[in-house]
Amino acid sequence: MSDVATCPICTMPDPLTTVDGFECATCGHEWMAEPGDGLDDVRDANGNLLATGDDVVVIKDLKLDGKTGGVKSGTKVKGIRLVGGDHPIDGKVKGRGILIKAEFVRKA
Ligand SMILES: [Zn+2]
Repeated sequence: MSDVATCPICTMPDPLTTVDGFECATCGHEWMAEPGDGLDDVRDANGNLLATGDDVVVIKDLKLDGKTGGVKSGTKVKGIRLVGGDHPIDGKVKGRGILIKAEFVRKA
């Protein structure tokens, strides 16, 4: 959760909201809003924060869209990318890109 935005220059709270960020009513400083897609708060099954570039281990057998095969528990996924949404982890297994729920992995 982010707190109430404050101006990074004069630290006054309650900035004006602009199209892509904020503008301070006191000193006129404008700044961009922080990315708010939840990308900075994706946690694995153990509650560890995940980041793009991390390696993770799948802890549950995953079926992929009803196709035969899937991802077995214990599969390592290297160099994940966080994409947000219901399945915030984008990784590659055997050359195939898959999207995984954060609660089905742990940090390697
Ligand atoms: Zn200010």
